[in-house]
Amino acid sequence: MSILAKANAKRLLRGLFIDEPGNIDLYAIAGCENIFIEEKALESCEGQFVFKNGLGIISVDAGLAESGQKRFTIAHELGHYFNSGKKENSFFCSGLDIRGIKQNISAEIDANDFAAELLMPEQWFCNFTKGKKFTKGVLSASAEYFNVSLSAAAMRYAEIGNHPVAIIMSKDSVVKWSRINEYFPFRFIRNGSKVTSSSYAYEFYNGENIALEPEKILADAWFWEDFNYKKDYFLYEQNIPMYRYNSVLTILWEE
Ligand SMILES: [Zn+2]
Repeated sequence: MSILAKANAKRLLRGLFIDEPGNIDLYAIAGCENIFIEEKALESCEGQFVFKNGLGIISVDAGLAESGQKRFTIAHELGHYFNSGKKENSFFCSGLDIRGIKQNISAEIDANDFAAELLMPEQWFCNFTKGKKFTKGVLSASAEYFNVSLSAAAMRYAEIGNHPVAIIMSKDSVVKWSRINEYFPFRFIRNGSKVTSSSYAYEFYNGENIALEPEKILADAWFWEDFNYKKDYFLYEQNIPMYRYNSVLTILWEE
């Protein structure tokens, strides 16, 4: 995570005396900076930000169905503003960037890091999940409490949660990246490898209905190349499909 982006979000929350998730009013934060937020149909991106002559406009794609996703998009665009030192600039951000499917542009990664820290501050997130074994219920409760999408909460958990969890982003049935927390028993998934037919995520790419609840799976489905490979070792697999991008965020955790 970008230390600077995270520090920018922390400073902003501290400066506004915001002390709980329910008080994070992105419209008010933007208004204080002379930034107007609008929802409109965007064709090639999910969010955009233009800042000129001391005035800014954040546009969010009106086609986004989920309020948590809209909120993350606004926070992402605010990230561009604060991370770039409030300079005149414009950003046109694809869903691939905002949802973290693609991770190759540092300004986009930093804007996501800012948004994650602004909407799910590390200390609050740790306090909320502390002592709770990871389950789908904990994930859903976190997403609801912080008013973000399930995928944003899952990425945050894999980063700072304290239960063994791994997340894998795949697109077009190819693994794009993975994030594995330090407590997880396996470490290695090759980027660029095909999603194997023994995983549940494969069902999505095979055009089948994907289960919305966690299912037990052999570790072989994902960690067949891992140095610590163990036979007959079971994990839970939960998938969050992103139909618009033919992508799946897979979450794996120990029984
Ligand atoms: Zn962006």
